[in-house]
Amino acid sequence: MKAPAKQKPASGKPAAALIDAALTQMGWPPRAMLSRMPMLIALLDGQLKPLFCTEALLRYAGGSPVADAPSSWQAWVHPDDLQALAHAREMALARNGRAFEHDVRLRASDGSFRWHLSQLSRLVGASSDSDFEADTEDWLLAVYVDIDVRKQAEASLKDSDDLWKLALESNGDGVWDWYVQTGVELYSPRILQIYGYAPGEIDPDPAEFDARTHPDDLAQMRADRDAHFSGLTAIYSNEHRVLCKDGSWKWVHSRGMVISRDEQGRPLRMVGTHTDITLRKQAEALIWEQAHFDALTGLPNRRSLRDRLALSLQTAAHDHSQLAVLFIDLDHFKEVNDTLGHDMGDALLIEAARRILASVGRSDTVARMGGDEFTVLLNSVADAAQAEQIAQQIIANLAAAFHLGSERVFVSASIGLSLYPHDGQRIETLFKHADQALYVAKAAGRNRLGRFTPELQEAALTRMRLSNDLREALEQEQLFLEYQPIVDLDTGQIHKAEALLRWNHPTLGRVSPAVFIPLAESSGLIIEIGEWVFQQAAAQAKQWRETVDPSFQISINKSPVQFRDDAARNGSHRSWAQRLLTLNLDGSALTIEITEGLLLEADQGVKQSLQTLRAAGFQISLDDFGTGFSSLAYLHKFDIDLIKIDQRFVRELRPDAKDLVLCKAIITMAHALGMKVIAEGVETAEQRDLLQDSACDFAQGYLFARPMGATALEQLLVSVNA
Ligand code: C2E
Ligand code: MG
Ligand code: MG
Repeated sequence: MKAPAKQKPASGKPAAALIDAALTQMGWPPRAMLSRMPMLIALLDGQLKPLFCTEALLRYAGGSPVADAPSSWQAWVHPDDLQALAHAREMALARNGRAFEHDVRLRASDGSFRWHLSQLSRLVGASSDSDFEADTEDWLLAVYVDIDVRKQAEASLKDSDDLWKLALESNGDGVWDWYVQTGVELYSPRILQIYGYAPGEIDPDPAEFDARTHPDDLAQMRADRDAHFSGLTAIYSNEHRVLCKDGSWKWVHSRGMVISRDEQGRPLRMVGTHTDITLRKQAEALIWEQAHFDALTGLPNRRSLRDRLALSLQTAAHDHSQLAVLFIDLDHFKEVNDTLGHDMGDALLIEAARRILASVGRSDTVARMGGDEFTVLLNSVADAAQAEQIAQQIIANLAAAFHLGSERVFVSASIGLSLYPHDGQRIETLFKHADQALYVAKAAGRNRLGRFTPELQEAALTRMRLSNDLREALEQEQLFLEYQPIVDLDTGQIHKAEALLRWNHPTLGRVSPAVFIPLAESSGLIIEIGEWVFQQAAAQAKQWRETVDPSFQISINKSPVQFRDDAARNGSHRSWAQRLLTLNLDGSALTIEITEGLLLEADQGVKQSLQTLRAAGFQISLDDFGTGFSSLAYLHKFDIDLIKIDQRFVRELRPDAKDLVLCKAIITMAHALGMKVIAEGVETAEQRDLLQDSACDFAQGYLFARPMGATALEQLLVSVNA
């Protein structure tokens, strides 16, 4: 690196003459004059050996560097600055005359060091003497200005800088310190560590971090910075992603403020911190995900669907396009879930979600609303026919067998469809109408598509009005019970009757229980009404037992909603069993008719309620048997006393009918399991005879009697049982 030492001047000039010539060439006065000037100046050769020093410099440093010269100038420089000195020499030589400035500590005569600004420059200027040029080629002129006081001040400033930087770093933040106009940015070790860098690995240049900022975040970061620069914000604050050394991204919260400005108010220096907020961002992302997506299927949830629908509606309004909302409900999902377990149920839902997705286009949305309910948003359908076609495709895809583990399972789907703008303009309306259409699809036997129509709307309105009217029915004594006898097929006698609820509506007249019971169930009114039915039937049973027939039994229908309510109250309300005691009535006076669906709920609470009822002496009768999902063997688990074969089987009974075989099988198995059988809806003598031949125990139906008032039944009992 260093130029080789010259043994002897090539020009042959004595050293003193060469030095004078050199000084003159650089525009300085000759040695004799220069040495008396009050400045610290030295002329150094290629080895940094002093060739000449001013008296002021000699006074400062002590001794005579020319006479008893230290072997080189380096001896006068602080050991820690030697490297900087070597660097400065290289720079000065390379600069061709322009001075290179650096700060250096020079040893004073007392051995202490003081900071000096050093200006090193190489000899330049036109010379006709090439030998002279060769001799002085690597000579340098050094001029020193004492800057020790300024340095001290700076050092104390830096000390306090370091102090607050340390304070900031102590809570894990990294610190940056940006000299805005010189374009230098200093980084604390911690800030580099956040991104996996060692000190010195990143140049102190703000462009370095800008280049590592996520492109999507850069514009906002600059906007926030500019806002602060121009004084719009008191503090700069921005969240952005930074590329780490290992290629991963980290989220940081960058905060800072300008701490000094020039006279024009332009920022000079800005300091701030980076806080690693990656974990918080991840947690936020997870929360966002959970808030918008269904964890099981990964589909958007109800909330995201609404957001998307709101957007789609705007677009559709703008483009004058149509869109469709499909409400999808899996038929019999509950049965699968209850019989095969929740894991299988989950697997079925995931597969169903996949099939629905596969049936729609990329721009459409499939969302899970909870349970077995899905909603599809079909964006821009050409017409109703196209929407219906897609819905039919979904029904077809869901009808295919599901392979769950080793089981093959079939579920079908019911779909309700509403169209924008035809069936509604707003989210609420479209949802309500799709729901009404779904209701119709289910009522029509499931596994089908329902379309919203004005008639549907009318029917829904009627249901709503009826439901409202039902609230007053009890109070206004519009409800009453009728009793339908249940005939013993062996003896032809009647010792049982089913209590059936009737509603005499003030303007509509008789409303069928098939219409109002579902309304009472969905509104929860069935709880109150059911209590009233129990009260009435129990009082009636007590009276008939006392006056007409001591073994008489009345059966009452109890809705699953009532059982669920029992379970929810945890039996805290006055139970039916306790009520019997107050009435001084035996449990055997009442039979509770339940539905198969209730057993499939197989809930611990329901089981408990059934056990409590039986313990109190009530009999349990399973209504409408054969229409649901359960098998006889399954019923055994629940201690059922009676089963009622649904009228659908009875209606088709003929000597050669398949239903006769079925009825016989049910009767045989029920007897084997210790249960008695009642046939419902017996309308003809032939049906009665076939049932009698099949060893059926009881029959109920229009053949014997229609449901009737209490007085009428009382008369009938007297005449039949006499
Ligand atoms: P269900 O419990 O199966 O009652 C038997 C239904 O079959 C009654 O209809 C009865 O009138 C009818 N029926 C009886 N014999 C014949 C026949 O030979 N042919 C035909 N076609 N029908 C016959 P209803 O009274 O309209 O009741 C309908 C349903 O409403 C009942 O079906 C029951 O599920 C429900 N329900 C009635 N009263 C109550 C009640 O107090 N509470 C609850 N939760 N549900 C009730
Ligand atoms: Mg019944
Ligand atoms: Mg029935």
